[in-house]
Parts: sequence; structure tokens; C-alpha cells
Amino acid sequence: MTTDPYAWIEQSLVTIQRADWYRSVQTLSDRPGATVVLAGREVINFASNDYLGLAGDERLIAAATTAIHELGTGSTGSRLLSGHRELHRELEIAIASLKQTEDAIVFSSGYLANLGAIASVVGKRDLILSDQYNHSSLKNGAVLSGAAIIEYPHCEVVALKTQLSQQRQNYRRCLIITDSVFSMDGDLCPLPALLEMSAEFNCMLLVDEAHATGVIGKTGAGCVEHFGCTGKPLIQIGTLSKALGSLGGYVAGSANLIDFLRNRAPTWIYTTGLSPADTAAALAAIQVVQQEPQRRIQLWRNVEYLKNLMQQQLPHLKLLPTESPILCFQLPSPGDALRVGQHLKDAGIFAPAIRPPTVPTSRIRISVMATHTTEQIEKLVAVLRNTD
Ligand SMILES: *Cc1c(COP(=O)(O)O)cnc(C)c1O
Repeated sequence: MTTDPYAWIEQSLVTIQRADWYRSVQTLSDRPGATVVLAGREVINFASNDYLGLAGDERLIAAATTAIHELGTGSTGSRLLSGHRELHRELEIAIASLKQTEDAIVFSSGYLANLGAIASVVGKRDLILSDQYNHSSLKNGAVLSGAAIIEYPHCEVVALKTQLSQQRQNYRRCLIITDSVFSMDGDLCPLPALLEMSAEFNCMLLVDEAHATGVIGKTGAGCVEHFGCTGKPLIQIGTLSKALGSLGGYVAGSANLIDFLRNRAPTWIYTTGLSPADTAAALAAIQVVQQEPQRRIQLWRNVEYLKNLMQQQLPHLKLLPTESPILCFQLPSPGDALRVGQHLKDAGIFAPAIRPPTVPTSRIRISVMATHTTEQIEKLVAVLRNTD
């Protein structure tokens, strides 16, 4: 037989293309900000997770540059071997102080923080209850753990309770996992009700604050703070790569939990420590988050302004329920989403089409930044008005 064992890849790509599911990268140049240069042309940026505009901030750049000069570019090994620096510990202490938890541990990405935390705290004899709309890293962390997985309908606490009453007794430990801000929808998990469930059924509760840290809550500590749940027994995950403008992830929680992860989380033990530049930039970002609440206030002003304009001028848009700077409107098909995304881009607005399999229904996803001007927000609405 002379068949090509790789021939299926090309066929698969053709299928992906036919469904309008095909994806490719777009090149941005220059520093990130409220406007970016996309394929050589300046566009208004409603596509990034840089909510506070810190990824291009001089102070983060200076902190990263200084760290590189002092500590070099790579951390050269696992944190448990040659890869640990004082800077890592300073960042972990800063995260714990922002989150008001006993301790924190930083990972090389938020994705790895979820894989490591979930796979460490539950195993074969355990049960995971997972919101249907959870981020890929939560879902894959659940698979990696080997635990039994039950998905519950998005944010439906009654359905969750039914599952717990029927299934909890068949397992040793139980872990509920959820995004706090749902990344492709913009709504929030019902955290207080989830905490009640976890207390009633003796479950651990893991919340992923990737899109909430620096953005939500009075001090920017996230949904846990927003819902008045600070200090509750939680496993809090987050990223350094969104509002904090750097790269990396973290787990925040009790001192015992963090100590346990340092001993058991494979995606922390068997990978290289966060680079000095990323670590220093994230540390500088947390200082900005704590010292400049006006950035968060401006972000929420922008969100409210855009929401109001959209409700007044674009009542026909199918805006998904949101309580975050993520605003999505639904479109009938992936092809429609691509067409609207392209129309926006031609008109100088960068807002991506999000399609299956990332989400069940196609949509345009707009994310608001603290550094957007009123004019930029008005231009977005004007362009959307001219979209059929
Ligand atoms: C972006 C995101 C992550 C991954 O974080 P990275 O640091 O980019 O790996 C994890 N969870 C959620 C909910 C996210 O939106």
C-alpha cells in the first residue's frame, strides 16, 4: 500500500473551509493600544483583552526591560530547580494581596494554571461539574484529571443541584468549575449560589477570573470581590495576559492549596519558570491596578456609553446578556459573522467574528478598553448602523 498517512489533513482542511470555520492569523504591528496597525492600516481595536490599556504602558515596558538587564531573558529551568527568582515570589505575594488570599502561585499561562490546578485536586474517584460554556482550559483540565465530568446547562444552578443530589454520593471529592466572566459571552457566573451549592454538597469550587481580574470589583480583584465573596473557600484562577498586559497565569487560594500545587501540579513542576520580563511586567501592572482605580472607572464608563448607544441606535442587534466589557451580538451563520467582521475591518474597526466550534452560535465580539475615546466608541456604533 502506498497511501499517504497524512492525506486526511488536507481533506480535513477542505471540510473546515467549506463550513466557514477556517481560521488564520492576522498580523498586527506597533504597540498594542486603543488603535492598532492591522495589515499596515490603523484600525480601532475592539478585539483585544487589554482592558486597561496596560500592554503598551511605559511603566510595564520599563519594568520588563530592567528585569531583562538584571536577570536575563530566560529563567533557565523549572521553579523547583534553577528557575526560581525573588521576582516570582514578589509577584505571587502581590497577587495574593490583590485577591485577599493567603497565597498564590504563578504559572507560565492561564491555560496551564487551569490544567495544573484541576488535574491536581481531583482524580479517578472524583466528580467534576462543569458549566457548559466554560473555557477550553477548564474543559481540558477536567479531561486531564481523569475525574468523571458532568456538564451543567450554562449558569443553571437548579440543574446543578439536581446533578449534585443524584451523583455526589457516588464519588470521593467533587469540584465545581466555572468561568467567572464567560469569555465569549460576557455574562457572569452566579457565584453566591455556586458557593451555597458547594457548601451544601461538600464540593470544592474553582472560578476562573481571567476576564475579571483588574476589571471587576472595587479594587479590581474580580467577580469574587464584586459578589462580596472575598475570603470564601475558593480556588481562584486567573491570567496575567489580559488586563495585566503581560503573559502568565496564577492560582490564588489557601496556603495549603498553594503548597500542595507546588508539590503536585505537573504544569508547574515540569515546565520552565515565567520569564523575568513577563514577571516584572505583571508585577508593575498589579501596582497600576491598585494605584489607579480611575482606569477601571473609565473602562466601565466606556462600557455603559457603548451599551446605551447600541440600545438606542441599534435595537435590532441581538446583543447577548453581558455584565462585563465583553459585548457580543449574534449572527445567523458563520458566513454572516465573517462578512460583518470584514465590513467592520474595511471601515476601520477591528472586532473579530467568533464561530463554532469555539461557541455554539456565531457572533461578533467587541471588547471595550479604558483607553477608548468617546469618538472611537461613536465610530463603532456608526459603522454598525451601516451594516445590514
Ligand atoms: C484567556 C483565558 C484563559 C487562558 O489564559 P492565558 O493566560 O491566555 O493562557 C483561561 N481561562 C479563561 C476563561 C480565559 O478567557
